Amino acid sequence: MKDIKRLVRANIAALTPYSTARDEYKGSLGILLDANENPYDAPYSDKGSQAGGAYVINRYPSTSLKEAVRGKVAALKGVAPQRLFLGNGSDEAIDLCYRVFCEPGRDNAVMIAPSYGMYSVCADINNVGCRMVLLEPETFALPVERLLAQVDANTKLMFICSPNNPTGNAFDVADIELLADAFDGILVVDEAYVDFSSKPGVLPLIEKYDNVIVLQTLSKAWGLAGLRIGLAMSNPYIISLFRQVKYPYNIGTDTLALALDRLKADITPQVEEIISERDRLAELLPAYKCVRKVYPSDANFLLVKVDDPRGLYNALIEGGLIVRDRSSVALCEGCLRITIGTPSENEKLLKAIETYES
Ligand code: PMP
Repeated sequence: MKDIKRLVRANIAALTPYSTARDEYKGSLGILLDANENPYDAPYSDKGSQAGGAYVINRYPSTSLKEAVRGKVAALKGVAPQRLFLGNGSDEAIDLCYRVFCEPGRDNAVMIAPSYGMYSVCADINNVGCRMVLLEPETFALPVERLLAQVDANTKLMFICSPNNPTGNAFDVADIELLADAFDGILVVDEAYVDFSSKPGVLPLIEKYDNVIVLQTLSKAWGLAGLRIGLAMSNPYIISLFRQVKYPYNIGTDTLALALDRLKADITPQVEEIISERDRLAELLPAYKCVRKVYPSDANFLLVKVDDPRGLYNALIEGGLIVRDRSSVALCEGCLRITIGTPSENEKLLKAIETYES
C-alpha cells in the first residue's frame, strides 16, 4: 500500500471544508429558511418534465438528487459510490488533481505528449511544473522508462490518456500498471474515450493501487457534452479530498435531473454505430490520393496524415465540415483529427475530400 497522505498539500490535508446549508440539512420537507434562497420558484420548472420529473431551481441543488446521480453512475461503472467524484466535466477533476496534490512553484507533473491539452494548461494555471514525454514516433507507444526517468522528489502527478487524444490509440493495461507500481506519486489515467475502445480499460486498478485516479466523462459515448459531467474514480480518501476542495454545488439541478433521465438509456447501439463508422472510414480513407496514413483508433476520431493538412482543412471548411488541424503538434505533423459523425455526415466528409482532390 502506498502512502497517499504524504502526497497531499499540507493546506489541503488541514482544510476545514465549507459546509453548505444542504450539507447540514439534507431533508426536503419543511419551510427552507436556511440558505438565503429566493422562496419563489423561477418560471423554468417545465424543463423538469423533459427530464422526466419536476424540479425546482430557486433552491440550491439537493443532496439527494446529486447522490441519486452518483449512485446511478457508480452502479453503471461497477464501483462503490464512495469511490466516485462527479465534476463539472472531467476538466474540473483534472484541475482538482493539481489543487489537491501540487504545491505551486515547487511540484511538477509528468505527462505524455502529444495528449489532451488541459493537463499542461491546468499545470500552468496552478504554477506547477510540466514535464512532457514524447510518445514513440509513429507507433505512439507508451514510453514507460522515459516517463519514469522524468520523475523526481517533487513529481506529484503523472497523466496518461488512454485511448489517447489526439493519437487515438489505447495503451496496454500491463504497461499502465507498471507505472502505477513504479511511480510513488498519483497516476491519473484519463479514459474519456474508453467506451469506444476494443482494449480493456484500467478501472479495476483503483482497487489494487491507492495512487491511481481514473477519469471518465459523460461527454463522449453518453452524448452529454453540453451537461458537463465528468467522473473521477479512485480510493475513498482521494474522493473525499476532491469533494472537500470542489466548489459548493458544483453541478446544477437541471444538469443532474437531465443526467439522471439520460442515464436510463442504452447507449450500446449508438456506440456500436460510431465504432463501425470509424472502422469504415479507416478502411476507405487510405484510398484517397491526399491521405498518407490513417492511424489505428480506439476512440471516436481518426488521426489522418495528409499531404497538405492546411489545404485540406480549408477545403473541408469551404464544404461546411470542420475538423481539427493538429499538424503543428509534435509527432502529428501533417495530421488532421477527424471526429466520427453520423453515417450521412461521414459520407459528406468523403464527398468533400473527393471534390478537393478533383
Ligand atoms: N479528457 C480528454 C482526453 C478529452 O479529450 C476531453 C475533451 N475533449 C476531456 C477530458 C474533457 O472532458 P469533459 O467534457 O468531461 O470536461
